[in-house]
Amino acid sequence: MFKKSHLLIASLLAVTAAYAAEPGKIGYQDTPIIPGTKWHVHDGERPQPRVVTPGKTFSHMAPAPSDATVLFDGKDLSKWESAKGGEAKWKVEDGYMEVAPKAGSIQTKEKFADFQLHIEFATPSKVVGDSQGRGNSGILMNGIYEVQVLDSYNNPTYPDGQAGGLYGQTPPLVNASKPPGEWQSYDIIFESPRWDKDGKIEKKAAVTVIHNGVVLHHRREYQGTTPHKRNGDYSKVHAPEMFIQLQDHNNPMRFRNIWIRSIGEYDKP
Ligand code: MG
Repeated sequence: MFKKSHLLIASLLAVTAAYAAEPGKIGYQDTPIIPGTKWHVHDGERPQPRVVTPGKTFSHMAPAPSDATVLFDGKDLSKWESAKGGEAKWKVEDGYMEVAPKAGSIQTKEKFADFQLHIEFATPSKVVGDSQGRGNSGILMNGIYEVQVLDSYNNPTYPDGQAGGLYGQTPPLVNASKPPGEWQSYDIIFESPRWDKDGKIEKKAAVTVIHNGVVLHHRREYQGTTPHKRNGDYSKVHAPEMFIQLQDHNNPMRFRNIWIRSIGEYDKP
């Protein structure tokens, strides 16, 4: 009996060891190669983006244009719901929302296709944890195409998982992160993927990200969904209109001043 349980614990430990990153290392090399690159998913050896100190403010507290939908004005979560269904249960105070313990991710009730999104965030001023455990959240279009949110200020992690990374695919061009506790802005232009009538991908999702006034991506295509330690794909066909999800990754992240507007089409006023 003792031997049996001993064996079970030993094999559990072996499994855990096989799946965890090696101590002292910031990424993985036992993951698949990302198509079109020589890097593994979450490769710690991939070059670290250059650090750029952003200007003091950029679009911080930018008022919404007249055709925008205001998703959060600092007062309530009426435009949001829990990703698990039901009410969004994050904390709202002093003009911001904050991830509440065990509340889960939240997402917009309304859906949007090609859009311009303005959002501001602050990582916890009290630094806890490191790498992916420090100030982790994310902006996930339809819950499956992530622009990473992380405290990447003097916090080494695998490049495709740092602030502004297209998670597991493309690191940001540079690291324009502000210190913990300071408000930061993302201005994101997102184009939804489209499939033909046979379910073949016709137009990949593409994104432009400006972080604190600094370009991180310029119409960069997603390789598909952005899972952990795997390559994503476009096997799941969905409508162009998608919800915007904010990730609960067990860190008390704050968000404020969120608005979105449809990009529209040329010659179609
Ligand atoms: Mg995340």
